[in-house]
Amino acid sequence: MPAKVDENNCTGCEACVAACPTGVITMDNGKAKIGADCVDCGACESACPSGAITMA
Ligand code: SF4
Ligand code: SF4
Repeated sequence: MPAKVDENNCTGCEACVAACPTGVITMDNGKAKIGADCVDCGACESACPSGAITMA
């Protein structure tokens, strides 16, 4: 399962976008959106200052 974003906690800081080695995170209306090609590395979860990303 790919990483998941809790949109209620996402502040739109884009730290996850910068951290993702595969470039699958895009911003959609100020919220991070994880693409289908996520390889479950966990880098975005570690990078998120708001705890908005969880690994399923
Ligand atoms: S788990 Fe890794 S590949 Fe998937 S969105 Fe996060 S940083 Fe990118
Ligand atoms: S790092 Fe966290 S708060 Fe920042 S855009 Fe990504 S999911 Fe949202």
